[in-house]
Amino acid sequence: MLRAIQRTNLRTSSSLIRRFQSTLVVAEHSNDTLTPVTLSAITAASKLGDEVSCLVAGTNCAKVVEQLSRVQGVKKVLLAQHDAYKGSLPEELTPLILATQKQFNFTHICAGASAFGKNLLPRVAAKLDVAPISDITEITSPDTFVRTIYAGNALSTVKCNEKIKVFTVRGTSFEPAAKEGGSATSEQVSAPSPVGMSEWLEQNLTKTDRPELTSAKVVVSGGRGLKSGENFKLLYDLADKLNAAVGASRAAVDAGYVPNDMQVGQTGKIVAPELYIAVGISGAIQHLAGMKDSKTIVAINKDPEAPIFQVADYGLVADLFKAVPEMIEVLKK
Ligand SMILES: Cc1cc2nc3c(=O)[nH]c(=O)nc-3n(C[C@H](O)[C@H](O)[C@H](O)COP(=O)(O)OP(=O)(O)OC[C@H]3O[C@@H](n4cnc5c(N)ncnc54)[C@H](O)[C@@H]3O)c2cc1C
Repeated sequence: MLRAIQRTNLRTSSSLIRRFQSTLVVAEHSNDTLTPVTLSAITAASKLGDEVSCLVAGTNCAKVVEQLSRVQGVKKVLLAQHDAYKGSLPEELTPLILATQKQFNFTHICAGASAFGKNLLPRVAAKLDVAPISDITEITSPDTFVRTIYAGNALSTVKCNEKIKVFTVRGTSFEPAAKEGGSATSEQVSAPSPVGMSEWLEQNLTKTDRPELTSAKVVVSGGRGLKSGENFKLLYDLADKLNAAVGASRAAVDAGYVPNDMQVGQTGKIVAPELYIAVGISGAIQHLAGMKDSKTIVAINKDPEAPIFQVADYGLVADLFKAVPEMIEVLKK
């Protein structure tokens, strides 16, 4: 009997702890659509407790507010629109987040660990005088988070004693929240006067019909073994047959074969597709840090000793200039 009471008390206190958490997810979007990593950040935030609010800052972003208000787990969508929020400059978004924090007193503030979140949240944390926790892969309790260290070779469990926990969320570690099923309220928050110390002018994004690298179901990546930028055409042809995104190793990027937004790895993008095909990539730990959580890994390399074979589910020891055209021919049939 005593044991039963103790258990009930424990359960009550843990549900009390959960009830007092309120999290702000800073939404990353293009004014029209929400990025998938924001949906993963919402899933992470939902694990902390009941109150998940999302902040949408931008210009003409009513569509994003509409999308967010249907996302499962979101209770409230906060909207701030101003020309100063073009390009999501941290210099302009930080004062807005601080003002929102002052008004709502969140226990946690998070965003996806994309260039947007990595650019913004350290500044927010510094202004709040708290230490941020970057790129978390798991939440064990409202103050305890797991993140990778040493290029993904070790997991570190971090207990955060800060009064406000500020963190970024690794998108591949949390399923995206369901886009339908929620019914959040929305509310306008007043935007502080623009800081005006920097101005967003334009962005030149690589235009491609292929899926986005971090959310693609299939990724074909090339390394130094491709030997030139022209030879990447082989991978583009293969990717088109598989509806895949194309990635690259840092060596291929450094050699100028492809732009650096294609880099996968510790200092590039983290991907975890259903299928990852590594072509002419040796498998250095810094590259593995960005792709080893892929469901199925295929490696094509002419060196049977290449470390990539240690993580590959299927390995083909072959010359890529022979193997890849053969694959394309088979896929054409
Ligand atoms: C701090 C730091 C951060 C880093 N971050 C990253 C990162 O984010 N991403 C990343 O990728 N790297 C990163 N690196 C670099 C990393 O250590 C490796 O140097 C890099 O990944 C090697 O790229 P690669 O496999 O294309 O080239 P290589 O190691 O040169 O491998 C080329 C491979 O191609 C094979 N090959 C050659 N010709 C053929 C052929 N005809 N057919 C089949 N196979 C062939 C070879 O056998 C070889 O295995 C980082 C390094 C440091 C120090």
